[in-house]
Amino acid sequence: MFKKVAITLIGLFVVIGGVLWFVNHESSKKSTAHDKLRVVTTNSILEDMVKNVGGDDVSVYSIVKRGTDPHEYDPRPTDISKTTEADVIFHNGLNLETGGNGWFSELTKNANKKDDKEVFAVSKNVTPMKLTSKGQTNELDPHAWLDLQNGISYVKVINDVLKKKDPKNADDYQKRTDAYVKKLQKLDTQAKEKFADIPENKKLLVTSEGAFKYFSKAYGLTPAYIWEINTESQGTPEQMKQVLAKIRATKVQSLFVESSVSPKSMEKVSKETGLPIYSKVYTDSLAKEGTDGDTYYGMMKWNLDHIHDGLNK
Ligand SMILES: [Zn+2]
Repeated sequence: MFKKVAITLIGLFVVIGGVLWFVNHESSKKSTAHDKLRVVTTNSILEDMVKNVGGDDVSVYSIVKRGTDPHEYDPRPTDISKTTEADVIFHNGLNLETGGNGWFSELTKNANKKDDKEVFAVSKNVTPMKLTSKGQTNELDPHAWLDLQNGISYVKVINDVLKKKDPKNADDYQKRTDAYVKKLQKLDTQAKEKFADIPENKKLLVTSEGAFKYFSKAYGLTPAYIWEINTESQGTPEQMKQVLAKIRATKVQSLFVESSVSPKSMEKVSKETGLPIYSKVYTDSLAKEGTDGDTYYGMMKWNLDHIHDGLNK
């Protein structure tokens, strides 16, 4: 009798042990990074969008780090290996990652990744704006994401690609996208109402790079800048002259400087005009992690709040 009970108990332990091992093994298998879709983005803004859509179902690596200019970049060995291993690579497109003789197309070529197979431009459904400076009018302005409606369009492209590449998690991608788009849409609606109280002759948004064309069009401002795009020379006497003339033709009271460029030229404009640099703004990069502006939503909210308050002086 005793022997029989003992054998039954041992049998039971073996079965329980087996079940525990199986459960443990399955869950650890599910959570290893290797099983997740490996996504590479060219910059921190796209990285954040992918995190919002992909959640725990993807692992994301951003080539250009926070606080660094994505127009011109020299890929490092880690960037090359991550791009080679990636299942999906998102870039902005619209002439953003084209500096330094096209660092991004060079990188994907070396990694043997193809357009629309592994490489996707998140801006593909956006209506592009052109540069306006002499000699550049055939080139596209990349900064579409600074209009939240374009940001929403980026997010939808990311969702479509992730669902196609990883159909078993399609429902989760869609759910996270719906919630995220709703949040961005609300911020956009509020922003459009927000700028109505600023007098027309103060609606001049002065920054170093002309990154705010899409933003200005969306929120009813006029953009002014020292240089039009970071890939051209920055702060030449001719550029200084034209921005000073634009400022002096208005009653604007504040200047702004981007977090990812040198403030030197804007400090000169400030000295020349006697106007203060009201705050930094985020254009081509998110803020450092753990600070205001460290997400796409956060950087847009920061920009909208500070630009509104600065122009309202
Ligand atoms: Zn830029």
